[in-house]
Amino acid sequence: MRVQLDVDKCQGHNRCYVLAPELFDVDDLGQAILIVEGDLDPGLEGKARLAASNCPEYAITTTD
Ligand code: SF4
Repeated sequence: MRVQLDVDKCQGHNRCYVLAPELFDVDDLGQAILIVEGDLDPGLEGKARLAASNCPEYAITTTD
């Protein structure tokens, strides 16, 4: 699984960082930053799905 962040959609609610700090950080303006690349560790796939389903802007997507 891979996770993608559309920074143009992100409005900085920081839910992703709260729910999945292993995958996301926050910049100085409160916008999300994706901190992983490539295929996710299988142990983080649940976190990726959780972040994607909780982003109110639909800025996070996952692909298998
Ligand atoms: S939850 Fe969505 S809108 Fe909020 S900071 Fe994360 S990516 Fe951006």
